[in-house]
Amino acid sequence: MKQLILIKYGEIILKGLNRPFFEEALVKNIKAALPKDFKGTVHRAQATIYVEPEDPTTIDAIIHRLTKVFGITSLTRAFVLPKDIPAIQKGAAEVLAPVLRNIKSFKVEAKRADKKFPFTSPEICREVGGYLHDAFPNLTVDVNSPEEIVMVEVRERYAYVYCGRVKGAGGMPVGSNSKATLLLSGGIDSPVAGYMTAKRGVKLNAVHFFSYPYTGERAKDKVMSLAKILAEYAPRLDVHVVPFTEAQLAIKKNCPAEQLTIIMRRLMMRIAENIAVKTGAKALITGESIGQVASQTVEALAVTDAVTTIPVFRPVIGMDKEEIVTIARKIGTFETSILPYEDCCTIFTPKHPNTKPKLDRIQASETRLDIERLVSVAVDGTEIITV
Ligand code: ATP
Ligand code: MG
Repeated sequence: MKQLILIKYGEIILKGLNRPFFEEALVKNIKAALPKDFKGTVHRAQATIYVEPEDPTTIDAIIHRLTKVFGITSLTRAFVLPKDIPAIQKGAAEVLAPVLRNIKSFKVEAKRADKKFPFTSPEICREVGGYLHDAFPNLTVDVNSPEEIVMVEVRERYAYVYCGRVKGAGGMPVGSNSKATLLLSGGIDSPVAGYMTAKRGVKLNAVHFFSYPYTGERAKDKVMSLAKILAEYAPRLDVHVVPFTEAQLAIKKNCPAEQLTIIMRRLMMRIAENIAVKTGAKALITGESIGQVASQTVEALAVTDAVTTIPVFRPVIGMDKEEIVTIARKIGTFETSILPYEDCCTIFTPKHPNTKPKLDRIQASETRLDIERLVSVAVDGTEIITV
């Protein structure tokens, strides 16, 4: 019997006139997430996307992949039947037998997208429910809390029968809400910040500051591994690896120790903004959370932000570490984030950083640096790796 994947999407339905734009973005992302050797069809009709592989044994693996595509609310394996009550009854009993044999209670829900179909939804439920009840003596009907719900959807060309659905990633299709540049460190927070922004449909690219030889190849590999995991949610992720050693050494040599971190962060922001503007990104994203470290006090964040003209998004700003870790585990970045390789910030971190920096004092210290040159050296030396 013919089988396929029915994909439902939630929030983008609300978007009125923009709806076709969001739907097309979602279809495109679904196609991109399919295995390279996928053979079959993908099409959209009546607020549902149908993915039909030629080989039905690949359905579970494909569903698993698609659980990482933002914009999808649920996915299900459905069986395709003729639009005819006896065929639906017999077909449902046959294909759902492995499930229905092993439970005690069920109910049938029906959707009639084709209003010309001669049975109403309650009638379809009654006909199919009654038939299944007779066919499986172990079953009782429980309309309030059934163990399984058997769904029957009667659509334009066929009827679809299924039970059980897999939850999708939610959010909006990546690429449907502009583009932003993620400052990606090797830590726990920034991959989560990237994930949360991509979830809202924002396409990402990333900037990583690399301080060779103070940070080694393994630290860079770690960041690339994180980027790869993030790219499962935010596909075609360009990582701009920026040489940052010269800038850090210049800051260390010329600026007061307690200001090193904040001046370094302002320089990171300038470089990141430069790359964002060049690549068409409209905002920066960081993994900062209020009070987590000295550079993340409200005062320090204000001084950091004073240097950029595009907005800085901090999706984890109000989250506790524990909450961030929960998401990191869910998306699969946590185990990589806690690998012990040093990052460029920890090496240049002063013992007593200034937690309440004053903008004018920081700006005064910065006059001792040739900021423009440090930015252009870093930007020019950038290596772009696409994952
Ligand atoms: P994370 O766990 O994301 O590294 P953190 O708590 O260690 O965050 P910081 O090291 O102060 O905090 O960094 C704050 C933010 O600055 C990071 O979330 C990230 O967005 C950015 N950042 C820090 N170091 C780098 C780096 N080497 N390259 C790119 N971005 C960085
Ligand atoms: Mg860090």
